[in-house]
Amino acid sequence: MNFTDQIVIVTGASRGIGRGIAQAFARQGARVACVATTEAGAASTASAIQAEGGVAHAFACDISDSASVDNLFAQVLDQMGTPSVLVNNAGITKDTLILRMKDEDWDRVIDVNLKGTFLCIRAALKPMMKARYGRIVNISSIIGNTGQAGQANYAASKAGLFGLTKSVAKEVGSRGITCNAVCPGFIETDMTESLPVEMREHVAKTAPAGRLGAPDDIAAAVLFFASRESAYVTGQSLTVDGGLTL
Ligand code: NAP
Repeated sequence: MNFTDQIVIVTGASRGIGRGIAQAFARQGARVACVATTEAGAASTASAIQAEGGVAHAFACDISDSASVDNLFAQVLDQMGTPSVLVNNAGITKDTLILRMKDEDWDRVIDVNLKGTFLCIRAALKPMMKARYGRIVNISSIIGNTGQAGQANYAASKAGLFGLTKSVAKEVGSRGITCNAVCPGFIETDMTESLPVEMREHVAKTAPAGRLGAPDDIAAAVLFFASRESAYVTGQSLTVDGGLTL
């Protein structure tokens, strides 16, 4: 899979899975737009890529804000050129049981995880349709399939991504644009760091792979969906969980 000179936008690239995805693309020759809520966060990944000899730019954006997203895409077009790949990876959790969940806990998670992905896709489609080529990869979660006590907002946002992914695939399939989803299991990042040790041990014991996942495990699936070679695969989701949900 060669991404030489392709412009790839990765949201949530400051750390965790997004950082791994951004680095993996850069290693295959892509010019990566690293996006996070702060320029300093995005720049930390961009600098790491540049230190390895890759090409990366840093951008600050709140993906839940339509003006911020439009500004991001205007900057990427101006500074880098037409993006051929968009990876919607940024996401948050605000976990609590439904009876205790505040309106704002629900709204914020839906706004970032689901609406933010929609806003980025809408902005990316204009240049991609003009180019008659594009690859969109949404990072969902196994929780979008299974549900999880204490994560109703998160599960709903991630399940919503399946409908969004399939609808985008149907709308723009004839324009050379594909849209697919990757569903990670438990991956070692800041998001899972706060989970109880017993839960982490249970996951490692239950998953046939015998371990938690790493950002690189997710990046490998993302690069497949983003490749030219995956042209005939669209509207699909691929679970990458070491077999945990079998
Ligand atoms: P993480 O370490 O918590 O990183 C989250 C990233 O999202 C950060 O780069 C953060 O930027 C960015 N972000 C948050 N809100 C944003 C906003 N409003 N606008 C732009 N960027 C925003 O998360 P992770 O574990 O790497 O997870 C990445 C994705 O994989 C998420 O969508 C998550 O739901 C999904 N996932 C993770 C796991 C797992 O086990 N870790 C499992 C299944 C799915 P800042 O640094 O600027 O805050």
